[in-house]
Amino acid sequence: MADTLFTKIINREIPADIIHEDELSLAFKDINPQAPHHFLVIPKKSIATVNDIQEEDKALVGHLFMVAAKLATELGFAEEGYRTVMNCNQNGGQTVYHLHLHVLGGKPLGWPPYQEKLKTI
Ligand code: AMP
Repeated sequence: MADTLFTKIINREIPADIIHEDELSLAFKDINPQAPHHFLVIPKKSIATVNDIQEEDKALVGHLFMVAAKLATELGFAEEGYRTVMNCNQNGGQTVYHLHLHVLGGKPLGWPPYQEKLKTI
């Protein structure tokens, strides 16, 4: 898999506001926040999309959620609630092809996230 922007952040080749690191993952603030708290939790392992998660990655993906909840607790917004999102490919709005868990909180978030009238499939 080709290096992405996020590999460069892992390798400290470009700067980021890193808020957590362990042997499996890194978390840093989103450069274009969509909520008062918006950070990304990523695996150090290069996995392009949700579609590329393998059987052997199950614990790693669970770990990303554990890190998300731990950081939300430390930052003080876990109890009031937050949203976790993994966008997948074009229709999901994915722009960086290194798996990442968005964590958004600090205000009530609208649902559904889009407003157009849906044609049910
Ligand atoms: P997605 O659209 O789901 O692929 O999300 C990619 C996210 O990465 C977006 O929310 C961007 O704002 C964020 N992003 C892009 N470049 C950086 C960067 N250098 N540091 C932090 N976040 C970034």
